[in-house]
Amino acid sequence: MIVVMPTLTRAEAVERASLVDVEEYHVDLDLTGSGDTFRSLVTVRFRARAGAATFLEFEPAEVASMTLNGAPVDPAAATGARLELTGLAEENTLVVDALMRYSNDGEGLHRYTDPGDGNTYLYQHLFINNAGRVLPSFDQPDLKAVFRVAVTAPADWVVATNGELVSRDGGRWEFAPTKRISTYLASLVAGPYHVVTGEHDGIPLALYARAALAEHLDAQAPEIFEITRRSLDRFHEMFRIRYPFGHYQQAFAPEFNFGAMEYPGIVVFRDEMIPRSAVTDADRERRANIIAHEMAHMWFGDLVTMAWWDDLWLNESFAEYLGSRVTAEATRFTDAWTTFAMQRKAWGLRADQRPSTHPVAPSVVDDTEQALLNFDGISYAKGAAVLKQLVAWLGDEAFLSGLNAHFEAHAYGNATLADLLGALSESSGRDLSGWAEVWLRRAQVNTLRAEITRDGASYAEVAVVQTAPDGHPTLRPHRIGVGLYDRSADGAVTLRQRLDVEVDASGRTVLSALAGVPAADLLLLNDGDLTYAKVRLDDESAAAVPLLLPRLGDSLARAVVWAATLDAVVDGERPVAELVTLVLAALPVETEVVVVEDVLRATRGLVDRYAGPETRPAALELLAQAADRLLAVTGPGDSRRLAAARGLIGATVDTARLRGWLAGEDVPDGLAVDADLRWLILYRLSVLGAAGAAEIDAELAGDRSAAGEQWAAACRAARPDAEAKEAAWAAIVGDAELSNRLAERTASGFWQPEQLDLLEPYVKRYFADMPEMMRIRGGMSAEHIAAMAYPSVAVSERTRQLAADLLATPGLNQILSRVVQDADDDMGRALIARG
Ligand SMILES: [Zn+2]
Repeated sequence: MIVVMPTLTRAEAVERASLVDVEEYHVDLDLTGSGDTFRSLVTVRFRARAGAATFLEFEPAEVASMTLNGAPVDPAAATGARLELTGLAEENTLVVDALMRYSNDGEGLHRYTDPGDGNTYLYQHLFINNAGRVLPSFDQPDLKAVFRVAVTAPADWVVATNGELVSRDGGRWEFAPTKRISTYLASLVAGPYHVVTGEHDGIPLALYARAALAEHLDAQAPEIFEITRRSLDRFHEMFRIRYPFGHYQQAFAPEFNFGAMEYPGIVVFRDEMIPRSAVTDADRERRANIIAHEMAHMWFGDLVTMAWWDDLWLNESFAEYLGSRVTAEATRFTDAWTTFAMQRKAWGLRADQRPSTHPVAPSVVDDTEQALLNFDGISYAKGAAVLKQLVAWLGDEAFLSGLNAHFEAHAYGNATLADLLGALSESSGRDLSGWAEVWLRRAQVNTLRAEITRDGASYAEVAVVQTAPDGHPTLRPHRIGVGLYDRSADGAVTLRQRLDVEVDASGRTVLSALAGVPAADLLLLNDGDLTYAKVRLDDESAAAVPLLLPRLGDSLARAVVWAATLDAVVDGERPVAELVTLVLAALPVETEVVVVEDVLRATRGLVDRYAGPETRPAALELLAQAADRLLAVTGPGDSRRLAAARGLIGATVDTARLRGWLAGEDVPDGLAVDADLRWLILYRLSVLGAAGAAEIDAELAGDRSAAGEQWAAACRAARPDAEAKEAAWAAIVGDAELSNRLAERTASGFWQPEQLDLLEPYVKRYFADMPEMMRIRGGMSAEHIAAMAYPSVAVSERTRQLAADLLATPGLNQILSRVVQDADDDMGRALIARG
């Protein structure tokens, strides 16, 4: 199948919004047919300027009939993923009866068959411009409408949509009309889903997952409901408008492209969020954060929606900020800001320092394809960090009061950055235009360094020096904490004082309060993580880190130190060998599992790309030792024990030990070698060439499940075997029948630093084959696969040259171009570090 991406331009959207006002979509789907299509019977009621012409997004497999205001529409009007209409009346009724295709790429109406029980599951995901794959629609965020949905499906199914169920008669479901929502927010799940229901504060709650996950959903429902209730309460404390969409349903769907999506009344998550094996508290925190993030969207995005995709950040930055905030304030995961500082901000920083960087709020996004490219660490993490800085500057009361005024002014409508800034300026009495210009309209990041001169044991002068990168000379005002940490005789590291500092945009801010003050062992800029900046420690503090970090009691302070340390390695300022040594010293005494996981993950990524073939084995061995030591000091039931085991499995070359664990020998107490840990071990054995196809097949035979099938795909792709690589590559680049998730898992296993000789031919093939892959797969899934299949571990000038050649190709797919540019920029850094 060739995927037609019906890109909508901003100019088209503006023009269409001036012509059309949509009242209602009555969508009647018949999901009972066999084959690759379903029937979509849709009535669209809309007003228009009389006599005008316009179009709807529409990608039918086959049209049975179409009428506009009772008169037949020529089937030729539906072409190129659009339905062109002319001669509109003031009040219009379009009725279309068509067959539409199911999808396997996570966009449109995705169909999945569970390999364990053969059950079929559907979910509808229309973002960013896929509404035409299910119904004819005016698919742009500012043409909101009421959705009234009816579904015919097998009688033993469960069907849920944004609207509440009105009637159910055997295989026929009818749902209440929704509030006015954007097309990209209309959703649906259908299939023999397992259901758990609840209620909170007058709001009906429901959870859905595949039948195969029923026992796990039942076991995890109390925790999910607990997070949901607490988050709802916290949002109700902060916001004057109550949750506006009736029921609050959360569905866990197979092969979902995102972590989750905020459809009003029915959030859909990827169903990996209902794990069947043991997980860490960091995994649970991640799920809690996503629950709160999607709930934040009910106000930011769903109730008040951006007018066009250039204000995508209004959705994502706020949801990211509020997700972390509500998780920290309302749930047991009170260290959620530590996770944000370590993990999420690193994502934003990486994206912001690449040549493809863009402002948090770009002034113009020309079309939907460009909008999709902005769905990155800048729109999410940098935007959220910038909001955190805004709150530090305005104060919480003014911030929340501005948000509330914004919601009240634009409920069920659309709004822009200017509208929001107006509301915040009004509530705070401050002019925010200068702030918005430097923080939202200009790309890239500043670096803050402490410059210290001493007078004996005291500071003579401490200054914060702010710099900006070439080509982006903007300096910014930063409100930050500066922490002075001392190490006492017994080794404990304690905070002596934290200064609240306004760093101005002059480039050098002297902290006069510190003149004559006894020097601290560690002077930490951005302590409390209030601003968005790269932080570099002064030389003495940096030298003390290996001694101090393990004893620093505040997890957020540790996260700021770790983030600065990792970032210096990313930039090639510090060698990866030094980082690995620090990990060996600090990891075994780290108390926060989120820090453990992130340090292991980030360090592992750096070792794989920054250490050459001569130095990588030793670095990996030290990483395995660090994990092993942590394993030895943690007890049963401690999440860090599982995190350490995962880190050890991923880094070790001790295949005998791994085989022992598979056989149940010498397994650390309390560590369950359950289904997914078994697969993780088998995956490592596959990478090392110590497990063959027969063993993978045997494991799969004992685990005929969605997860088993995905793990097997990754394991097969990971084997250092020419035939296995050839088969995996053919699947990744050419098999359109393979679902998004199976293609991703295959790509995730393909490149291994251990196998560079074997993989050498595929470096060139990546650049030759990816344009075709982009043609046969959909937008988001294609982007994921292109990124995962990139030869990131083949760090060489030759790879960079091949990337440059591809980027010079005229008419190269925009999404592929961005993926290659970004991966190539990362490789440039790795080469510098190796040099
Ligand atoms: Zn979001």
